[in-house]
Amino acid sequence: MTDRKVLLVTGGSRGIGASVALKAAARDWAVVINYARDREAAETVAAAINEAGGSALTVPGDISREEDLAAIFSLVDHAFGRLDGLVNNAGVVDKPARIDEMSRARLERMFAINTIGAIRVAAESVRRMSTRNSGRGGAIVNISSMAAVLGSANQYVDYAAAKGAIDTLTIGLAREVADEGIRVNAVRPGIIDTEIHASGGLPDRVRDLAASIPMKRAGGPDEVADAVLYLLSPEASYVTGAILNVSGGR
Ligand code: NAP
Repeated sequence: MTDRKVLLVTGGSRGIGASVALKAAARDWAVVINYARDREAAETVAAAINEAGGSALTVPGDISREEDLAAIFSLVDHAFGRLDGLVNNAGVVDKPARIDEMSRARLERMFAINTIGAIRVAAESVRRMSTRNSGRGGAIVNISSMAAVLGSANQYVDYAAAKGAIDTLTIGLAREVADEGIRVNAVRPGIIDTEIHASGGLPDRVRDLAASIPMKRAGGPDEVADAVLYLLSPEASYVTGAILNVSGGR
């Protein structure tokens, strides 16, 4: 149990999620760091927070699996007994491909994690935050992508479509729970320097695309995290259903 506000960050072990976890802890959130496979990376983020006097726990779990979701939220319930914020961040890309090369299995994985998983995490969070269920309210920030707007032709239109659904989720859910104390917003990162590009088979993607970005550089995970922290904060108290591009003008 804690007096601190409690934030769940899915995919909080690396990249954007790790930056969010560290910055949130510095603003006195207790942080639950979810990850899928890389326990060591998650423990490193949690240790940095705890050693600095903050409060962090890690929890493994693939957000596309119902039993894993149950375990994630069971930890939140038992360790803290409250949930005030969610950063719906876990997401994956796949190898570049044209749509006529994409298998059904690929599409099912893409949507199971990036769309259905994110919706289920939001749903379990709403269940705990809503004043309708005696919750204290809260704030949700969904991590979309500029791909939702640009479409990612010849790279991964499946990913872009899955993130387009996150934009729509943000608008609809924001309206659905606006009078239940919950704000729902999204951030659309552009090209951000993380390991996600290498995981999709394009380790040089950040370098290759930098010149095509109006600011002529990729963003850093901290620059996305700053936008997320604003949307979680009381300074954004009248902001809901908003989708903020953090993309260097892309
Ligand atoms: P990343 O560096 O690859 O990190 C991904 C994180 O998500 C890791 O903590 C990973 O955990 C976790 N994860 C992956 N699959 C998961 C699953 N099924 N269940 C739970 N956790 C899972 O990615 P990133 O670049 O920080 O991206 C974070 C979010 O921003 C994603 O939603 C991505 O689509 C979005 N985004 C990124 C960019 C970009 O340029 N980087 C641009 C636009 C949008 P493990 O390490 O344990 O697998």
